[in-house]
Amino acid sequence: MSSMNIPQSSFPRVIIIGGGFGGIALAKKLSKKEAQVVLLDKHNYHNFQPLLYQVSTGGLEPDSIAYPIRKVLQGYPNFYFRLANVLEIDTQGKRVLTNIGDIRYDYLVVATGSETNYFGNKGIQTMGMAMKTIPQSLNLRSLILENFEQALLTDDLHERDALMNFVIVGGGPTGVELAGALAEIKKGILPKDYPDLDTRRAQINLVQSGDRLLPAMSDVASRKAERFLEGLGVNVWKNIRVADYDGKCVTTNTDTVFETATLVWAAGVQAVGIKGLDAKEILARGNRLKVNHFHQVEGFEEIFAIGDVAQMQTDAFPEGHPMMAQPAIQQGRSLGENMVRLIDGKPMKPFVYKDKGSMATVGRNKAVVDLPRFKFQGVFAWFVWMFVHLYFLIGFRNRVVVFINWVYNYIRFDREARLIIRPFKKQNQADRSKLMQD
Ligand SMILES: Cc1cc2nc3c(=O)[nH]c(=O)nc-3n(C[C@H](O)[C@H](O)[C@H](O)COP(=O)(O)OP(=O)(O)OC[C@H]3O[C@@H](n4cnc5c(N)ncnc54)[C@H](O)[C@@H]3O)c2cc1C
Repeated sequence: MSSMNIPQSSFPRVIIIGGGFGGIALAKKLSKKEAQVVLLDKHNYHNFQPLLYQVSTGGLEPDSIAYPIRKVLQGYPNFYFRLANVLEIDTQGKRVLTNIGDIRYDYLVVATGSETNYFGNKGIQTMGMAMKTIPQSLNLRSLILENFEQALLTDDLHERDALMNFVIVGGGPTGVELAGALAEIKKGILPKDYPDLDTRRAQINLVQSGDRLLPAMSDVASRKAERFLEGLGVNVWKNIRVADYDGKCVTTNTDTVFETATLVWAAGVQAVGIKGLDAKEILARGNRLKVNHFHQVEGFEEIFAIGDVAQMQTDAFPEGHPMMAQPAIQQGRSLGENMVRLIDGKPMKPFVYKDKGSMATVGRNKAVVDLPRFKFQGVFAWFVWMFVHLYFLIGFRNRVVVFINWVYNYIRFDREARLIIRPFKKQNQADRSKLMQD
């Protein structure tokens, strides 16, 4: 028995760190084969990150976008899950060191995903809000609602405006989706919830450093998304770089400043690194681990990396595959097949990414979809967006709950999960950076 109470097996032991899109896809492929699969994650659930913004804006309850990892792999004979925070890899001794003990591996797969990148800006990290995890999304939900409760109480017009002023930094899908959702709340919910507050003064600002939104999508998708947002009343600021935030004032590289109680940072991610696998030579841009076409980390035959944490250079993707769910899923499946070949002493096959397109939603009846052959926007795109997200959501119950919520919200123009369950205390601002690590 290992220190984690996992029996010795005649099969090689494959340890997967991370039960995200990549780790789960791999574990599913491998756990019925001749391998002992041990999945370690610091959470006992899989987090469906694409719908986090709906949790932050009261459209969905957090439980409907999370799913127990143990349940996903229930009944797989060679599968073990341990709730563990991985602290270090001992590559010499082939051991993973965690907060619940150490465990030996024959093969190791790093699938730890990514985290918010503040590019070293301490002010934004400490005073801004991120939206990468469920606890962070709940913090944001509470803060948004607390701001309006506080706005009701103050006589100071300047302070009231700052409480109702939102600055979202980053014009990628996360920023666009969050801005659209906030604009819909302003229009459809705030006037009814706060009839004694002039909520027309609420401002939603989306700040993008480049010259277009959704830079990873087509020009037409960018233009249309911007038009949709402006139609909803969002102020779109392009070619402006946010410089700092002190909890009250956002400064930029121009004369533009924003007085706001809420800055949401959606302008960058970096791979989640692990001590022991952090030599400069094996790290690419954004802290990603350099891997070859079989996902082997540079310099190691028995250590692999997949998903956001891995950077595989190809002709089509010289900077690595996009940090999105599809590459992570496809890489997990491909590595699963390759590991079976490896264990059987057969040659592995190089990974080839099949780009299935990308999409973003701006709000009710408004989405943009870029497929390899077609690009479309509007109502049909919105239905496609909903169908795809329901399809990839893990768990039948979650799909049903999310579907019912969406239908209800659509018919009633509502978002009933606007609850302050765990208040986000303003006086804890100094501790915010700690909360963001949750
Ligand atoms: C707000 C938001 C919206 C997004 N929207 C989309 C979208 O619309 N479409 C799309 O394709 N992609 C989207 N993405 C990106 C997509 O979610 C990621 O690309 C995808 O989750 C990457 O999968 P992964 O398996 O690499 O990592 P993840 O899914 O992030 O999983 C990593 C896992 O590793 C665990 N972990 C990390 N470190 C440790 C450790 N030290 N010890 C133990 N466990 C650890 C984590 O708990 C986590 O469960 C979005 C991301 C965010 C944040």
